[in-house]
Amino acid sequence: MKPTKVNERIFLSSPHMSVEGYELKFVQEAFDTNWIAPLGENVNEFEKELAAKVGSKEAAALSSGTGAIHLALRAAGVGEGDIVFCPTFTFSATANPIIYQNALPVFIDSDYETWNMCPNALAKAFEKYPEVKAVIVVHLYGLSADMDKIMEICKKHEVTVIEDAAESLGGYYKGQHTGTFGDYGIFSFNGNKIITTSGGGMLVSNNEEKVAKVRFWATQSRDQARHYQHSELGFNYRMSNVVAGIGRGQLKVLDQRVEKKKYIFEFYKRELGELDGVEFMPINDWDKPNYWLSSMTLKGKVRPIDIMAALEKENIESRPVWKPMHLQPFFEKYDFIGTDVSESLFENGVCLPSDTKMTDKDLERVVKTIKGLWLK
Ligand SMILES: *Cc1c(COP(=O)(O)O)cnc(C)c1O
Repeated sequence: MKPTKVNERIFLSSPHMSVEGYELKFVQEAFDTNWIAPLGENVNEFEKELAAKVGSKEAAALSSGTGAIHLALRAAGVGEGDIVFCPTFTFSATANPIIYQNALPVFIDSDYETWNMCPNALAKAFEKYPEVKAVIVVHLYGLSADMDKIMEICKKHEVTVIEDAAESLGGYYKGQHTGTFGDYGIFSFNGNKIITTSGGGMLVSNNEEKVAKVRFWATQSRDQARHYQHSELGFNYRMSNVVAGIGRGQLKVLDQRVEKKKYIFEFYKRELGELDGVEFMPINDWDKPNYWLSSMTLKGKVRPIDIMAALEKENIESRPVWKPMHLQPFFEKYDFIGTDVSESLFENGVCLPSDTKMTDKDLERVVKTIKGLWLK
């Protein structure tokens, strides 16, 4: 790795292509065969390779994780006026597709043990809305939600479960890959994710018929006819063959990226974990996270804003944790089930730079800047 200059920008999480150049090789193949158009060998192989990696029967390569959630909701039969349970503590892309379908989100609080959907709040939501059509579960920052408890509740109510695993590719719950517990799982290859294709997504499921349907919808719902015939609403959501080539290359270094993210987290925890008021995101013993973003909460006199300001002065990127959906102007009119957990996480949380290209020197630069705030 090239040595970092003294004040070179350190990013939160930016694209990191393999040193071996795998991505370019697959893209080159697409060029050599003039297979630049959507679909082709890379798309088919990327689907197979990702499905094998996570242990799912089928996968459909799409243009974004958001599109994958949208089509998962359609596959679940979610339509106008239907209720969908959704974690409040997430990125807005989890909730937006519910609105695309003219359905109604009900936001569910987190618990401190997982930072993800609280099973107790979920159970309460079922009492209030027994007619709910689908549940979306998120594995935030690569930490898995407590899937045993969540699946038990959802199975009891025979409701479709969609796992938004956009942030948890390479992360496992009790040995099983996140995104494979529910009826549908989705992944994202957006630029800031653990591996990226510059933009893209994947829907996985063991239901072959539904995945075939998702591919059909994603390519404008063209019926089998010589002329352009449509009996259903279509979408232009398919991944292109060039993009899929990047994905195939990136998939080869996913394990390496997880290892590096873990190293970054452990570096921070070792160096900062003892500072007054600092608590790192929870790593449960059943969890094998991908450590996408190293995050922590602050309860003492040093606030998240102090850390972000001090780091920015050193040309280092950091971020608050996600602002809960029930506090967002666009979503605040929808119901929320829970207490103040996600709100408190938002008030006290900060995401530290977790870029896999960081060197030890970079990590020391971050740590030194943060520690300085406790010396004042
Ligand atoms: C990134 C992300 C998405 C959206 O994925 P895109 O590929 O950017 O559309 C959805 N949910 C969560 C939790 C994400 O972090």
